[in-house]
Amino acid sequence: MKNQIVGTIMCFSLIFSTIHPLSATEGMWIPSMIKKMVAGDMNAMGMKISADDLYSINQSCIKDAVVHFNGGCTSVLVSDKGLLLTNHHCGYSRIQAHSSLENNYLKDGFWASGLDKELSNPGMNASIIKEIRDVTDAILGELPENATEAERAALVKIKSAELVESAIDGTHYQAYIRPFYFGNQYLIFITEVFEDVRLVGAPPSSIGKYGYDTDNWVWPRHTGDFSVFRIYANKDNKPAEYSEENVPFKPAYHLPVSLEGVDENDFTIVYGFPGRTDNYITSNEVNDVLTKTNPMRLQMREASLGVIDAAMRKDELTKIQYAAKQSRISNAYKKWIGQSKGLIRHEAVSKKDSIERVFQERVNAKPEWSDAYGGVLLDISALDTKTQHHSMSRNFFIEFFYMGPEVLRFAGGFSELVELSKNKEVADEEIDKWVANKLSKMGYFKNYDAQVDEDIMKAQINYFIEGQPLAIFTKDMRKKNEDLAGFTDRLYAESMFVSEVSIRSFLEGYSRNKYKKIEKDMGYMFSKNISSHYMDVTRPALMEFAPTQDSLMRVWMAAQMEVIPEKTYYPDANGTLRITFGKVEGYPPFDAAEYAHFTTLEGVMEKEDPTNPEYNLPPKMRELYNAKDYGQYAHETGEMRVCFIASNHTSGGNSGSPVINAKGELIGLNFDRTWESTMSDIMFNSSICRNISIDIRYVLFIMDKFAGADHLVKEMDLVSAAK
Ligand code: GLU
Repeated sequence: MKNQIVGTIMCFSLIFSTIHPLSATEGMWIPSMIKKMVAGDMNAMGMKISADDLYSINQSCIKDAVVHFNGGCTSVLVSDKGLLLTNHHCGYSRIQAHSSLENNYLKDGFWASGLDKELSNPGMNASIIKEIRDVTDAILGELPENATEAERAALVKIKSAELVESAIDGTHYQAYIRPFYFGNQYLIFITEVFEDVRLVGAPPSSIGKYGYDTDNWVWPRHTGDFSVFRIYANKDNKPAEYSEENVPFKPAYHLPVSLEGVDENDFTIVYGFPGRTDNYITSNEVNDVLTKTNPMRLQMREASLGVIDAAMRKDELTKIQYAAKQSRISNAYKKWIGQSKGLIRHEAVSKKDSIERVFQERVNAKPEWSDAYGGVLLDISALDTKTQHHSMSRNFFIEFFYMGPEVLRFAGGFSELVELSKNKEVADEEIDKWVANKLSKMGYFKNYDAQVDEDIMKAQINYFIEGQPLAIFTKDMRKKNEDLAGFTDRLYAESMFVSEVSIRSFLEGYSRNKYKKIEKDMGYMFSKNISSHYMDVTRPALMEFAPTQDSLMRVWMAAQMEVIPEKTYYPDANGTLRITFGKVEGYPPFDAAEYAHFTTLEGVMEKEDPTNPEYNLPPKMRELYNAKDYGQYAHETGEMRVCFIASNHTSGGNSGSPVINAKGELIGLNFDRTWESTMSDIMFNSSICRNISIDIRYVLFIMDKFAGADHLVKEMDLVSAAK
């Protein structure tokens, strides 16, 4: 009897300790729903503004200053002339595109001295959310109870198209609908999308990327990760393509900029567009990330980075050419290493497993739940097993085709020309137009080095071929007994797609029957083999299982919400606008250590090392430091603060997000997470997960004292520290 009671108590305490409500600052909340869901918690934590100040459709509010930056990052409006702040790493490819050996803005920085010197960025956009509306009923209201997954998907598609059309009818707005909670809810986002976005300023990379790869995803941090852009509009303040006639955009709201800085425990909001999280995947799926997906991705990226890093160290031109590519590859590479470590250290698999066990026990004890949800976890697991090897094949395809040797993508782009040329109904003029357009895009070779590309292919090809379940080579491609290195040598020696001279002369003398030369080109053939394998084998297999997967995840999500109601559920990130709240706080990263919540210019100087390109500061920074001339940007203690950390739940896409204090003022720009936090895309833990932000006063200091661009600071509404 005694044993039984002890057993019961243990069982309850197990449930209690595994099903804790959300950890205090976990969650990425939809702005239009914070009033209902978390505004009370935010006030309790110190927020002084109202939910309407953050999101409203009836008055201008902070939402109107938060801008989706080219679809992948976030930025914030800080003046009534459309001045936009984001991260240096978000503006990086634009800064690079304007750079050359003569005008090396990556190396030296760039500051436009006036509006007429600001640089246009064709193809870029900046988008502001006008309204968010729940359209779940409008989409699913007429769905018959016994509808199949295919019928559901068809209805969602039709209804979404109708809703988008009617939402923007008669306006210059755009709109999109996204599923939340795995399709248990749908929201429409109405947006105003600007296309004329100009580069205004950027510090040199030695400040904007200070610490480079070594410090990426790491705290303590001293990176001045910001850049400055401006949105332009037509004379009616509406979006317009680039034109000299355009004028600076006048936003509905721009954020006041605080000079007060932060102290420990201060309330913070990060307002932005987190890209993707997987906070509700099952324990088995977390295990797959740890044992299969991450190791494979790391192996592929280690191979390419080994080549790129060595080439960049050797040569200044290669360094410029491959800077943006290197950053793109190494950023996620390092994140995945930290993510795996964190998930293992914090026992994510067993924690998720305990929750699943509690879930299953409760479900089994209640017949109606048992009927509806009894098999959902087993079904998910069985499906994962079935799709596993196709998912891995897809991952290999992404890593090799999209992140690996560029010849594959470049050559693959010519399949359109082959199709046009073969099609007798297509007029010669149309082909000429295609060719002329391609010739105008030879700027691609500005950042291409065939030897580096070949070395990348050689470093990755063995892993890639081994990772494919089915043969990827057509018979005619590989010579008898040719190994993969030999095959690669031959490809780069023979293909015209690895040389600007060859491809130019081919295009300049092009006539439609020459498409056969493309078809016989090794670079083209290999590219075609790989993409056809993906399109004909991998993708259809995954598509076949997608409806089942969608419906299982939808049921799993809804089931958790019903069966374990003591937890609060926020939707996974999906690139839509979110608010996360937290506190400025340090954390204990590992045994015997405690990190402070801020870094200073002293720390920048401590790291300085002119012999190491990662920590080689411009001399002017030392002069400013020696003079201690921090002006109004100094902290009340007299020091220059550089970065701070807080417990906001953020992800990729939150780069450049405004960090806002309790009064609704800008105090920083979010740009990273700490090494121990990279696991938060799968499991957030508020005692250790921290987002890293640049202190806005460091941004102003660099602009004003370092770059002499005080005219930009003057555009902003600075709020002095309350004395
Ligand atoms: N630094 C991150 C990145 O570049 C963005 C912010 C984050 O993921 O926390 O992906």
